[in-house]
Amino acid sequence: MNIEGARERWVRTGGVELCVAELGDASQPTVLLVHGYPDSKEVWSEVAERLADRFHVVLYDVRGHGRSTAPAPLRGGFTLEKLTDDFLAVADAVSPDRPVHLVGHDWGSVQGWEFATVERTEGRIASFTSMSGPSLDHFGHWIKSRMSRPTPRKVAQLFGQGAKSWYVYMLHTPVLPELAWRGPLGKRWPKMLERLENVPSGGGYPTASLPQDASHGAWLYRDNVRARLRRPRPDAYAHVPVQLITPLDDVFLSPKLYAELEHWAPQLVRRTLPAKHWVPRTRPDQVAAWIGEFVRANEDGIPAKEAVATGPYADRFGGQLVLVTGAASGIGRATAFAFAEAGARIVAVDRDAEGAMRTAEMARLIGAPEAWGEVVDVSDEQAMEKLAEKVATEYGVVDVLVNNAGIGLSGSFFDTTAEDWKKVLDVNLWGVIHGCRIFGKQMAERGQGGHIVNTASAAAYQPSRALPAYSTSKAAVLMLSECLRAELAGQGIGVSAICPGLVNTNITSTTRFAGADATEEKRLQKKTSRLYGLRNFPPEKVASAILRAVVKNRAVVPVTPEARGAHLMSRFAPRTLRAIARLEPPL
Ligand code: NAD
Repeated sequence: MNIEGARERWVRTGGVELCVAELGDASQPTVLLVHGYPDSKEVWSEVAERLADRFHVVLYDVRGHGRSTAPAPLRGGFTLEKLTDDFLAVADAVSPDRPVHLVGHDWGSVQGWEFATVERTEGRIASFTSMSGPSLDHFGHWIKSRMSRPTPRKVAQLFGQGAKSWYVYMLHTPVLPELAWRGPLGKRWPKMLERLENVPSGGGYPTASLPQDASHGAWLYRDNVRARLRRPRPDAYAHVPVQLITPLDDVFLSPKLYAELEHWAPQLVRRTLPAKHWVPRTRPDQVAAWIGEFVRANEDGIPAKEAVATGPYADRFGGQLVLVTGAASGIGRATAFAFAEAGARIVAVDRDAEGAMRTAEMARLIGAPEAWGEVVDVSDEQAMEKLAEKVATEYGVVDVLVNNAGIGLSGSFFDTTAEDWKKVLDVNLWGVIHGCRIFGKQMAERGQGGHIVNTASAAAYQPSRALPAYSTSKAAVLMLSECLRAELAGQGIGVSAICPGLVNTNITSTTRFAGADATEEKRLQKKTSRLYGLRNFPPEKVASAILRAVVKNRAVVPVTPEARGAHLMSRFAPRTLRAIARLEPPL
């Protein structure tokens, strides 16, 4: 047994003995985790440990897997009807008086759909969280509807999923899968999981029983797939609230499979993750957080749809930890609010204490389940280190980091003093370096992916005689983002550089004008503010672009028409851009 602190018991049912493990306080709501193929209950170890402080967590080896015994004969011993008997036997043993919260991955989820849609389990299941495993009945109807009314798009979807299902055909061949699993495939599987799926090796997973589990498990396919796809049940409606977690890069299942799921599961909540198939191993933090939130809402009697945020990209950011610097004002504040609307937990960081606290307070009102204000000067390395330590221990590892704090500095090169240069580079460049280095390192060490957004500027690629220091700092941020993007790609961490043009924020009233005395600086600030006010591009639109950039993992995102225009010119008409750079600023 590889799950720390687990208590074991055996449940007899239908001629087999199931090995059942329990964690946490049995008086708490029961979360029952069902593993897939070719796995044993240990696939859940990381998720189970994260849920055990709040719930009674139960896992069992499916018949013929791990330490559970196999039916004899194997043929006909793995039908969904028999698997439903097993589930009911385990549920009755571990939670006789209360329905359980069911969670399934891969074949555990295929089974879960059966349990959640047949009549005889009614009243025994409180909620169902499904990952990477569709209902065979829904799948059957999905194929039928595409075959009976084919359009080019539907045919492409059929072929797309057909190609991803190659292994299902293989598993239907006699004897070969058994030979492969007991031979070379079984030996190489842990390394293959590591290489192809980024599943960290070690920690007792996969267990030594893998070759035998995989051989027995071939009967899951043979006993069920053809029969159900040919004659799907017409009434496979879920009688419980369902949370669907869809890994977007699943090589075995197309997200399109779930397009019509609301028809079958009226109380459906959708979540998406930029991850491959084995999310219980690669994304245990996120998976456990979503299960916990869904179970809690159901226990509290909150309807599934009301329990989750509804803002744009809520399926992607719900429950994620997002840290935004420069969050007391302008683009940073709008970004914190947009993530809050999507249900993310927010850390609003700024050197302006009152502003940061206010952003956090408002983020909670908008939809963030939790939000905190933190005071720090991003250019202060030690202060950033301290903040990162605090965030990691108190709130967790950041999923999305937005290095946005920045200051303006205008004036010709010879008017810009060394002190001016230092100030602007300290905040605009070093602030971003510290953020990427300190928080990015935690992200990489956690090994569960993430995203870093750096706010650069259109000034990063558009030269001008008026902004030599500011533009240099932003060009450095842009290049840093590109380099880091290349370095972190293999670890599932995306990096985006956002390049806004003129955005109506407070930056114009705090921008320093090198070479100008106090009165002249005030006049220039007022004039610039008026100009940006007339342009009137709202920071909320930059915030939307930031969320989109994370979802689509964009590298460089010019925002505002002038920023997009300049970006095109920098590539296709750099001479014109250089000519424009020579013009006197209109101030
Ligand atoms: P803003 O002045 O409204 O907000 C900037 C925030 O950063 C403020 O709350 C400020 O207190 C904070 N900040 C400044 N220095 C800090 C430091 N050392 N440590 C912690 N916090 C600090 O400005 P904004 O327009 O929202 O700017 C946000 C980012 O967008 C900046 O990096 C800026 O360069 C960039 N940008 C702005 C525009 C624009 O037109 N507004 C255009 C392109 C890029």
